[in-house]
Amino acid sequence: MIAHRVFKQVPRILFGSGTLARLDELLPARDAGGSGVRVFLVDQVHKTTGIADRLPRGDQDLLYFVDTGEEPSTRLVDEMRDKVQADCPAEPDAIIGVGGGSSMDVAKAVSVMLRNPGSSSQYQGWDLVPAAGVFKVGIPTVSGSGSEASRTAVLMGPEKKFGINSDFSMFDAILLDSSLIKTVPADQRFHTAMDCYIHSVEAITGTMKNELSGGYATHALELCRHVMLQDGNDDELMTSSYMGGCSVVNSEVGVCHALSYGLSLVLKYRHGLANCIAFNVLDDYYGEYVAEFREMQKKHAIELPTGVARNLSDEDLERMVQMTLKMERPLTNALGTDWAKIFTADRIRELYQQM
Ligand code: NAD
Ligand code: ZN
Repeated sequence: MIAHRVFKQVPRILFGSGTLARLDELLPARDAGGSGVRVFLVDQVHKTTGIADRLPRGDQDLLYFVDTGEEPSTRLVDEMRDKVQADCPAEPDAIIGVGGGSSMDVAKAVSVMLRNPGSSSQYQGWDLVPAAGVFKVGIPTVSGSGSEASRTAVLMGPEKKFGINSDFSMFDAILLDSSLIKTVPADQRFHTAMDCYIHSVEAITGTMKNELSGGYATHALELCRHVMLQDGNDDELMTSSYMGGCSVVNSEVGVCHALSYGLSLVLKYRHGLANCIAFNVLDDYYGEYVAEFREMQKKHAIELPTGVARNLSDEDLERMVQMTLKMERPLTNALGTDWAKIFTADRIRELYQQM
């Protein structure tokens, strides 16, 4: 039997459409002895969605837009940390990440890097962060990544896409306001929602499953189904994302994520889309769920690219295969401790070639 580690969860959650205006309730008081400065790290798309203007900000607060043109990198995080330190004479009281998984992960990582030396690339791995970060709040504006619930800040490093996985890279509070996801384009909404669907499937079918992770994943799946195949609403999608995230915190992802990281590293596909591309060829591993995924895809008229590995050089394909082989924990979760005997480099190459 697997010995489970201590599970941490986000301690404070403000839930409900329209709660953005009540952000103050989650933050340390301005007169509590800190600098009184709050730093907002906001997806650049919110220059035009109106969300940046709706943020309850004081005159002394700082706001930086996060470039989400590509998945966040360790370089971007290090640069943002340097900017915050240069602009803010004393340590900020709070870092507030507003956006999808990309912006929330940047916020988590910047919070950690304000209190730990060197480059964020040094902390990509499991439990490598020595000191707690600055108080941080996550505000998702697209639902599905589950970053709001997880202890992970996924970053693209020079040679690998990998998370800072630490209790210190988990939010101290989150605000789940479904009015913020109204402006997400339909295809992005689908891709990110499928990230949540896939987190739940991987958690529920994995060898690291337990009642706790299974409970979260089962409900996340039900909600996601209701939203994608029936008439579920945005509160349900937001809850599904959060619960899918909780299920993974208490277990692990699986084969789809192991393959999707390779697609993002080399071909630069965004995480949600990369997951969809990978999941679509995983009938052997997640059969009935892949069939349901296709039903959702059809209902929402989502087209996926095909032949994505067709023009890759041998060298690039090999980088993708090696990236997948680094994903030991997800592969152990999905296939057991002997995964390397069945999930070989040849098998991985074959799967990429089917995508
Ligand atoms: P994202 O943050 O990358 O954003 C996707 C796109 O949606 C961007 O173009 C963004 O500008 C846009 N967008 C966001 N909110 C919007 C809104 N309200 N209106 C219009 N457009 C909006 O998307 P994501 O799928 O949430 O996150 C993916 C990232 O999260 C990847 O980097 C992935 O590795 C990471 N991730 C992290 C975890 C974790 O546990 N930390 C889990 C899954 C994925
Ligand atoms: Zn994911």
